[in-house]
Amino acid sequence: MIDDSVDVLVIGSGLCGLTIAVTAARHGLRVRCLSDGRPGASLANFGQLHSGAVYAPVLPALSTACWEQRDRWHDLARPARFGKAHGLALFHSADAAQRYLDAWRRIGIDALEVDPRGAGRFPSPAAAFRIPDYSVDMSVLNAGLVDLARTSGVPDVQRYTAVLRRDPESGLVSIAPPAPPSRMVVLAAGGGTPTLLSNAGIQHTLHNRRIAWGRQPGLAAEGVTYWLDGDLLAISPDRSGIRVGLPSVKGGYGTTAEERARLLEALDRHRLHQSRSDLSLIWGTVCEPTSLLADPSSLVVDLRRPPDGWTPTGNLLVALPGKWTTAWHCADQVVDALA
Ligand SMILES: Cc1cc2nc3c(=O)[nH]c(=O)nc-3n(C[C@H](O)[C@H](O)[C@H](O)COP(=O)(O)OP(=O)(O)OC[C@H]3O[C@@H](n4cnc5c(N)ncnc54)[C@H](O)[C@@H]3O)c2cc1C
Repeated sequence: MIDDSVDVLVIGSGLCGLTIAVTAARHGLRVRCLSDGRPGASLANFGQLHSGAVYAPVLPALSTACWEQRDRWHDLARPARFGKAHGLALFHSADAAQRYLDAWRRIGIDALEVDPRGAGRFPSPAAAFRIPDYSVDMSVLNAGLVDLARTSGVPDVQRYTAVLRRDPESGLVSIAPPAPPSRMVVLAAGGGTPTLLSNAGIQHTLHNRRIAWGRQPGLAAEGVTYWLDGDLLAISPDRSGIRVGLPSVKGGYGTTAEERARLLEALDRHRLHQSRSDLSLIWGTVCEPTSLLADPSSLVVDLRRPPDGWTPTGNLLVALPGKWTTAWHCADQVVDALA
């Protein structure tokens, strides 16, 4: 009789689910990964391999995790890179530059001051630094990780739309339609996580947030460029043209028309003139805790010992990387919890 049981069943095959599957397999666990096949945030994101430089003064734990984890992506990210292997951090004010420089030094981020007059075509900033961030083709990176999973002994991802059920008597979840029996289930379903949990009657403290960014053909960027004060515009090289992003306003993004207008105004402000009709807007979803985390680089909730606001469940872990750059960090935490 064939024993198809596994130690861990991972729901979701975005960068989080796959890094967990690879890490579990490397630790000798029998693992299977199921996914509904829909492209999640791992394909529809801004595509920066972060050094952590951008977050350093504001979110030092996230910044430190990015800095410590990014090298683990290099073999997969290098063949997927667009543009230069380093980017630019630009500042309108010397005070802001000093604040970032202090934070980079505390974390050890490798930033090099450069002559602001040489900062590309942009109006001369007060200060400019070379930072080790670069832009990645996410479909190439995802495909590379699928190959790595295969060579690490993870069976091919099974196409499967999972529904969770929690039995109130046993406090265990099962999966419908029936999946291979497993000791533990790891939910790495990105934006699908809150609904999967709620529909199973599992209380949680997660919510989804939509984020918009733009694709502008006809413009070029040598590498990632961030303005770290002022409007905080980020641009990065894309397959043809550039990607453009702005932070949310008071924690939220507006309508598609409003966000297009905001991005076009920012491009004008930075003298990046373009054909206005060509800017396309892309929406992505991040799943986050409703309360601020001390360490937003990854969230791993072990429902065998749940935090406040979560329903105890004897065989379920929930995993959400704050950034794909920190997904290996999240995977390590999951596998530690499974050990
Ligand atoms: C707009 C945007 C820009 C970003 N930019 C960056 C960046 O530049 N750099 C960076 O490091 N991070 C960035 N991030 C964060 C990063 O993209 C995410 O943290 C990461 O991709 C999340 O990966 P994941 O595997 O958890 O989720 P996902 O990639 O969303 O994968 C979850 C998968 O689970 C599947 N699934 C859901 N429900 C079910 C179900 N019931 N059954 C089976 N499968 C299911 C989904 O279809 C999906 O394929 C960005 C995020 C957004 C939204």
